[in-house]
Amino acid sequence: MTPRRRKTSALVKNLLEWYSKNARDLPWRRTHDPYAVWVSEIMLQQTQVKTVIPFWERWQRELPTIAAAASAGSDQLHKLWEGLGYYTRVRNLQKAAQLIVTRHAGKFPERFDDILALPGIGRYTAGAIASIALNQPAPILDGNVIRVLTRLFGIAENPKAKPTNKRLWQLAEELVKTAQPHPSIRGSRRQQAPDSKSPGRPDGCSALNQSLMELGALVCTPRSPQCPVCPAKKLCVAFRENRVAELPHLGLRLKPTARHFVAFALEQDGKFLVRQRPAGRVNAHLWEFPNLEVEEGKADAEKLFKSEFGFAAQRFLPLLTVRHSITRYRITLEAFQVHLAAAKSPTTALSLRSSATDAETAAAWKTPAQMHELAFPSAHRKILRVLAARASCPCVSTA
Ligand code: SF4
Repeated sequence: MTPRRRKTSALVKNLLEWYSKNARDLPWRRTHDPYAVWVSEIMLQQTQVKTVIPFWERWQRELPTIAAAASAGSDQLHKLWEGLGYYTRVRNLQKAAQLIVTRHAGKFPERFDDILALPGIGRYTAGAIASIALNQPAPILDGNVIRVLTRLFGIAENPKAKPTNKRLWQLAEELVKTAQPHPSIRGSRRQQAPDSKSPGRPDGCSALNQSLMELGALVCTPRSPQCPVCPAKKLCVAFRENRVAELPHLGLRLKPTARHFVAFALEQDGKFLVRQRPAGRVNAHLWEFPNLEVEEGKADAEKLFKSEFGFAAQRFLPLLTVRHSITRYRITLEAFQVHLAAAKSPTTALSLRSSATDAETAAAWKTPAQMHELAFPSAHRKILRVLAARASCPCVSTA
C-alpha cells in the first residue's frame, strides 16, 4: 500500500469512528428519503443549520412528497421559504419536483447524471444527495470540505483556482470511494428504522461525506479550530506544520458595498399599501412596502416621498432602520410610516404605484393580519412586525 493510500484509509477510519460518536442529531439525518435530504441540502445553502431546522420541519409537514412540492401554489411555496432568503432556490426546487413528476414518474432519480440535470442542483448538491441518501461514492466539495481538505493535505494554492479545485474534488472522491464498504460499518441502511432518533451508522459513503461536513462545522472551523480534539490531527499537514491559520488561502476578498434604501408604509383606514415584486427580479414574487434606493446621507425622505408620489403626507413618522447583509452588500433600509389624508382614496394611491414602481407590479391595501399571510423579505417583515405591534394585531405574536 502506498503512503498516500495508507493516509486515506486511516483518515476514513478515523472520520467514520468520530462521526459515529459525534454526529449531531439533525432531523434530516433520521431519514434516507432523497426528497427530504434534497430539501435539506437546498435550504442549507448559505444558511445555518439551526435556522434551517424549523423551516425543514414545516416544509416536510406541509409538502411531504415530491408530488406535493410540484403542485404547491406560488404563495404557499414562498411563504414556506419566507426568512430563508435566496428565493430562486425554492422556485428551482419546484421546477425540479415538476420534472421528477413528468420524467421520473414522481420517484427521485438514482442516477447521478439524472440528479445533476435537475434545476438548482449543482455538482455539490448532486453528490450530497447521491451519497447521503443513496450511499453512492459521489464526492462533495463545499466551503466546509474545502477548509478541511486544504488543511489536512497542506494545500496552499487558492482552492478556487481550476487545477487546485480539480485536485480537491479528486481528494474528496478518493476519500468517499475508500469508505465503500468499510469494515468498521456495522449493519446497513436497510436495517435502520427510518425514523430512528440516532444519526446511527448508516453506510460508508453517506457517513464519510457527512463526517467531512460535520468536522468542518464543529471542529475544523474557520476561526479557532479545535485541533487538540480533532480525530484527524495525527494525519493533518497544517497541524503538523503549524499552518492552520493560513489555510485555506482564499485570496483577496471583495470589499463589501453599502446600499441604502428608503421604504414607505402608506396607511389609510388601518390598511397599508404593499406590492408584489415582479418575476425576474431579486426576491421575485415576494411582497414589500414601496421603497427606493437612494444615495446614502443625501436623501430627505419626506421630500423624496412627495416627489415620488406627487402629494405630501398628512403625517410622516420614522418607523425603524433595518441593517442586513446579502452576499457582498451591506444594506440599510430606513422605513417611514406615512398617513394619507382622508381625501386620498385607496384607488388614487394604488394608481400611483406606476410612478413609483414597475408597471407590472401588483399592489394592494392590506391590514397587518392580511399581510401576515403573505411572504415578505426579512427586512420588510420587520417593518410589518412594528406596524402590527402598533396596531395591536394578534398576528404579531406569530409574525
Ligand atoms: Fe482541522 Fe486542526 Fe483537524 Fe487539521 S487538526 S483537520 S486543522 S481541526
